[in-house]
Amino acid sequence: MRTSIATVSLSGSLTEKLTAASRAGFDGVEIFENDLLASPLAPEEIRARCADLGLRIDLYQPMRDMEAVPADVFASNLRRARHKFELMGRLGADTVLVCSSVHPLAVDDDALAAGQLHELAVLAQEFGIRVAYEALAWGRHVSTYEHAWNIVETADHPALGTCLDSFHILSRGSDPKGIEDIPGEKIFFLQLADAPLLAMDVLQWSRHYRCFPGQGGFDVADLVRRVLHTGYEGPLSLEVFNDVYRQAEAGPTAVDAHRSLLLLQETVGVTTPPAPVVPTGVAFAELLTPDAEPVAALLGALGFTRTARHRSKPVDLWQQGEARVLVNTGPAGRRDGTSLAAIGLESPDPVGAALRAEALLAPVLPRRRAAADAPLDAVAAPDGTELFFCATDRAGLPDWRGDFEDVPHESGPGGVHSIDHLALAQPWHQFDEAALFHRSVLGLHAQESVDVADPYGLMRSRAVTNTDGSVRIALSVGAAPSDDTVHAQHIALATDDVVTAARRFREAGGRVLPIPANYYDDLAARFEFAEGELETYRALGILYDRDAYGEFRHCYTRTVGRVFFELVQRDGGYRGYGAQNAPVRLAAQHTVTGG
Ligand code: MG
Ligand code: MG
Repeated sequence: MRTSIATVSLSGSLTEKLTAASRAGFDGVEIFENDLLASPLAPEEIRARCADLGLRIDLYQPMRDMEAVPADVFASNLRRARHKFELMGRLGADTVLVCSSVHPLAVDDDALAAGQLHELAVLAQEFGIRVAYEALAWGRHVSTYEHAWNIVETADHPALGTCLDSFHILSRGSDPKGIEDIPGEKIFFLQLADAPLLAMDVLQWSRHYRCFPGQGGFDVADLVRRVLHTGYEGPLSLEVFNDVYRQAEAGPTAVDAHRSLLLLQETVGVTTPPAPVVPTGVAFAELLTPDAEPVAALLGALGFTRTARHRSKPVDLWQQGEARVLVNTGPAGRRDGTSLAAIGLESPDPVGAALRAEALLAPVLPRRRAAADAPLDAVAAPDGTELFFCATDRAGLPDWRGDFEDVPHESGPGGVHSIDHLALAQPWHQFDEAALFHRSVLGLHAQESVDVADPYGLMRSRAVTNTDGSVRIALSVGAAPSDDTVHAQHIALATDDVVTAARRFREAGGRVLPIPANYYDDLAARFEFAEGELETYRALGILYDRDAYGEFRHCYTRTVGRVFFELVQRDGGYRGYGAQNAPVRLAAQHTVTGG
């Protein structure tokens, strides 16, 4: 199907918005009046620019407070409409959006509304224009799609149809079933937006919190299926008012937006991109660092052993059980200091996983490798983290470790058996995008998002996992742009005995993040512990949590660059990540860094 996006959904000048929409693969745009008014380009120039970019102008919007008004008001409305129709002729736009009236003089009179919309349609037809009438969820007298359709039906003019907007329909809790009763050729336009489920004023909700389909809590796919059932042949168009997108860079937002429509089309069954290949484990985490020394010291204290070195790159492989950490001292990356730059995901079909990612607009990374290296398929996540699809020790698939040459080593006592989870701090404007990316591209499940207070504000966190929990990625984001650098990334290491692992770490010279005594006093009040147990936790900086499934004990190392490690012991199927303890951890890190 054709895809379109309202210019109001993107940041920047009109030209920048159009360029971003075109590059992301959209077929058309809705030109928002304010974007046109603020543009130095003449309507003919905008038309030419769109043509050059391969964009059709699918809609001009909005025309407000048109119907059910006193005669004198309507006369001036028609005059205004004539001007706009002339403008649309210059733009080459043939459909205009008319929102249900919020005019203070508008009356609750469907016959009057239908009559005036009929007159408007007569005028529009002279200009070769179609009028799409939409019920605003907060319209003065018309606020549901059924009501708007009734008026359109009564008005009965070929140049008048209805515009359906998923936000207005689903935010009011209307049953979308009735959509199937509208003839497809009378649905002139379909606007799509999702939104988180919030209990708030619908106007504010719409203006600030709309998001792309799949990122919120509405069943947008169900609505689209019903619309397609009518025979609707227009575009799927995104109209998203969102405070964050208005500030984020237009290019990445447009890609994110287009990905959401590709997924929606897959969900409703009109396209079949390559199926997701769900990762089955974490092959490695790769740290990029300008100075390997502090990282090596930390890994050594945690019980890791340097087991191999890459044949052609300055990359060391550190290993303990099935936990593998690559330390890359190659050309400094995009970030200063030490960062978690890449993740190797065990994939049953690395090539298929890359094809899926590519089909969903994830940038496929060039394979920078020597001729002898195993082919590693990699894509970039929205935050720039490189995701490698790889196979470890599996017959028939190239093993990435073949690129590494063993170095003489003696394995330590160990205690860590695998990587429990990876925590990635997202740029503040990419949180929703990141969750949708990991869900759609990798086929992971997204858990509920949680808010955690920290010394800098509110941090949001959301985990994405595979079914058996062998891949767990915790995505987090701070409340403000400046938080990007504040929130560290971490690698959580799974152990069966966190007390022993923490002791060993300390004996090896490692420093555990100190946790305040108040925390342990509170733990004593909340839970009953065996004799001496809490004292042990207090001495080792171990935190504790419990859910309906089991228990969680964990402690943190000091931070190197942007990265720290966590030792975690999950018992009895505990599903969380110790979110309850995150504020204490964040405050403790704030204290340690002297902030
Ligand atoms: Mg709308
Ligand atoms: Mg963690």
